[in-house]
Amino acid sequence: MFFGWFRRRKPKRALPEEVPADWRPHLEAQPFVSLLSTEETCRLVDLARSFEERVHFEGCAGMQVDDEVRRSIALQACRLILYLGSEAYRRVKTVLVYPSSFQAEIEGKRQDVSGLAVPDGPVLLAWDQVRLGARDARDGKNLVYHEFAHKLDMLDGQTDGTPPLPSREQADAWREIMGRQHRRLRWAARRRRRTLIDPYGATSPAEFFAEATEVFFERPRKLKKAHRRLYRTLARFYRQDPARRVRP
Ligand SMILES: [Zn+2]
Repeated sequence: MFFGWFRRRKPKRALPEEVPADWRPHLEAQPFVSLLSTEETCRLVDLARSFEERVHFEGCAGMQVDDEVRRSIALQACRLILYLGSEAYRRVKTVLVYPSSFQAEIEGKRQDVSGLAVPDGPVLLAWDQVRLGARDARDGKNLVYHEFAHKLDMLDGQTDGTPPLPSREQADAWREIMGRQHRRLRWAARRRRRTLIDPYGATSPAEFFAEATEVFFERPRKLKKAHRRLYRTLARFYRQDPARRVRP
């Protein structure tokens, strides 16, 4: 019996030897890292280290920011820019971390939120939600991916769901495909239909891009099957093909 159980367990992919000892436990705490190749893991560590050095982290409402907090956020955030490079976060200067949801003023109304990306300002995150998002790498929900997708969107100074793209042709294709999918989601959300992308994405093109990013990285096969053009558009932008990585 024991041997049967033992054999069924999948061996965990070992971290590359190049990973520094003080980063190993932080990488092991992120299930998505086991999907990356050796080269990608090393690249992720390089990006996360420079992110940790460059970005100012601050605890709010009694939150203590330690290595675990900084590195968990840095590693998740840098998954998005694995092939975009650290330049993509050049406008991210400060991350404010709260223990749990906090009050923020959005469009003149004070509300409870778990995350916020302020244009030309900080990223605000609730630590309990950051941890929750990291724990399950396949549920399509990840607060850090969501807020940092907004930061990529804001790179051109606008929060409109279209990040800077290398060509006019790519920008036109992006607007056409994302626009159509956003309208479809709005249609489904109004009828309270179950959707792969969270109905919150229906609220604006910017929220659609952020919600679609969460699904792209965490449920890539499902997204590719259900919305092939949307998947391809995001894969072209992020220069990643996560559907190929997911093990059956
Ligand atoms: Zn959002």
